Amino acid sequence: MQRSDPQCRRLVGVSKRALRRRHPATAVLWRFKNGKIYTYIGEVCVSVNPYRTMNIYDNSYVNQYKGRELFENPPHIFAIADASHKVMKQQGRDTCIVISGESGSGKTEASKIIMKYIAAVTNQGGQKDIERVKNILIQSNSILEAFGNAKTNRNDNSSRFGKYMDIHFDFKGDPIGGHINKYLLEKCRVIYQQNGERNFHCFYQMLSGCSDDMLRKFSLSRNPSDYFYVKQGNATKVSTINDKSDFKDVTHSLNSLDFSKDEQDSLWKIVAAILHLGNIEFMNQDEKLSVKNSKSVEYVASLLQVQRKELERALCERVIAARGDIMRKEHTESEANYGRDALAKAVYDRLFGWIVDRINSAISVDESNYQYKYKSSLIGVLDIYGFEIFDNNSFEQFCINYCNEKLQQLFIELVLKQEQEEYNREGIEWQNIDYFNNQIICDLVEAQHTGILSIMDDACKMTAERVTDELLLENMDKKLKGHKHYCSRQLKPAFKQLRHKVDFQITHYAGDVTYCINGFLDKNKDTLFQDFKRLLYSSQDLNLRNMWPEGSQHISETTKRPATAGTLFKNSMQELVKNLLSKEPHYVRCIKPNEMKSASAFDVERVQHQVSYLGLVENVRVRRAGFAYRQRYDRFLKRYKMISQFTWPNFRSGQDRDGIKIIMDERGFSQDVKYGKTKIFIRSPRTIFALESARNELI
Ligand code: ADP
Ligand code: MG
Repeated sequence: MQRSDPQCRRLVGVSKRALRRRHPATAVLWRFKNGKIYTYIGEVCVSVNPYRTMNIYDNSYVNQYKGRELFENPPHIFAIADASHKVMKQQGRDTCIVISGESGSGKTEASKIIMKYIAAVTNQGGQKDIERVKNILIQSNSILEAFGNAKTNRNDNSSRFGKYMDIHFDFKGDPIGGHINKYLLEKCRVIYQQNGERNFHCFYQMLSGCSDDMLRKFSLSRNPSDYFYVKQGNATKVSTINDKSDFKDVTHSLNSLDFSKDEQDSLWKIVAAILHLGNIEFMNQDEKLSVKNSKSVEYVASLLQVQRKELERALCERVIAARGDIMRKEHTESEANYGRDALAKAVYDRLFGWIVDRINSAISVDESNYQYKYKSSLIGVLDIYGFEIFDNNSFEQFCINYCNEKLQQLFIELVLKQEQEEYNREGIEWQNIDYFNNQIICDLVEAQHTGILSIMDDACKMTAERVTDELLLENMDKKLKGHKHYCSRQLKPAFKQLRHKVDFQITHYAGDVTYCINGFLDKNKDTLFQDFKRLLYSSQDLNLRNMWPEGSQHISETTKRPATAGTLFKNSMQELVKNLLSKEPHYVRCIKPNEMKSASAFDVERVQHQVSYLGLVENVRVRRAGFAYRQRYDRFLKRYKMISQFTWPNFRSGQDRDGIKIIMDERGFSQDVKYGKTKIFIRSPRTIFALESARNELI
């Protein structure tokens, strides 16, 4: 193989031209144009969404990557999966694969490919219980996607929750169980969708896929346009989605995961109840609030197996406990609308949580098994929402972008830290590289007392009903004035008389995002009137009842304020970061080549932007200042001993390192190489190309 041969350049995935131009996006582009969707930057795998089926995942590819070193084969996500499986198996260390990128860049597909690879290379002995675990790990996807994914304007199958999945392995490296953590489901989608978007898939799947009998039992029609909660985006049908057959798949997966008949019945009844709930309207007559369409209330009550009267009462009024007195207070119409929507969101969110718990119990590791308890290690796979910059950004985007700041910090710190630690360990001289530390943005959001989440929580604690989003914004302005990454946006003069100031802007690592403060307080408080909790707990449906244990509390006990949505999210993020820090990380950075879901278009500017904010530029800088390649002496000598007569067939006149030194001096590479305690470090990928060429000429 010649050095100019693309085969050879593929080894590290960098073109000659890209090396000259020195922008990582160029390398990605060059490779993508040649039908190669994966590129390495160091050990980070960059993946560009091909938007077409690629024949690069079958068994022949699995065999090509199985057990091999990262740089021995062309870049591929299989190599990353294999690397983390190998480390876990050989060294007993926990590893994780962090997949990041914006919506539609291919994260969820990547995580599925990784799962399939792991399934393909494990359980060679064909053990039944391991096969069962593998099956659940794969089948759980269709269930989670049905209830957690939706069609958005960016992706027809967009995950609307963050997912972290631990896979436990036994000492042989076979999967014995797992655990899924979910993060912040975008539950406001249950009640509202922007134009062109849909509610979660499960609603449409059920309506088009369930039997006539079931439909009748649930008092539903097949037409999604009959239900307010699922029709607002005017996109109930999606050309790339077959809801009917997806319903079949989900049912099949639910059966495979041992969801009982009874559990499945509860699950779909809850979905149906939400559809009817969305059609409930209120009216004010003779200064009394009542429900306009009592049929819908009847359907909801019967599906949720609660008393119809109680449901109606909980929709129209609430019970308040004040200084020992218990009073009823009738809702205004807007409070009633708010309450109904809050109920729909909460019921759905709990249902999703329950589904995840059920999947977890089906794959939980049998702790009583001695062998597992002491010998198991983990691979964690993180598929979490990327930066979101929409025309309208709300509380959800604020949380999602904060999550990305945390992960970005982890990435930069780990990649740099690991690199630097390795140089120190190996006794290699190293000059620190400057990089933008986004800790300042994380602090802006999460710092105690002074961070935005804290200011928001303080506002939520105030009892006065007068505390509005505008007042919150004023407070934020006061406390964050002068912060380099915060400003409250000045409205155009023309709007100044018409509106209050409602926007604030954060200069994120990935760019400026303007958030509209409207709804922040409500979403942070995430109030569900106690009456609903007690109502749901009174359900005759035991599955539903078990989802609402707090409903058992007496009214006087329930006045304690629950943690806010923002604080819960912050805690879950800090927990996640701590967890990832304890594992050896592998990275897949996903890139979206264009906005049209096209298999051929490549929007260079967009790609460059993604490459920049994903931290790949810093990544390249570190790799450039450092070494593109490093390998243990024994492995390196084994691979290249054939290219020198002094080391072939065996080098016996010294240590491995001495043999390697002979090869490198002989080939004129001594300037490009540093010798560490246990590894050789090579600065330029070109040296590796040349060594590979020399090797290939001899095979
Ligand atoms: P994300 O999770 O980042 O939002 P997805 O993984 O859902 O994005 O990918 C969006 C769509 O892009 C998929 O539904 C699929 O059509 C396409 N896609 C993504 N990755 C691949 C791939 N490796 N091969 C083929 N198509 C892909
Ligand atoms: Mg996704």
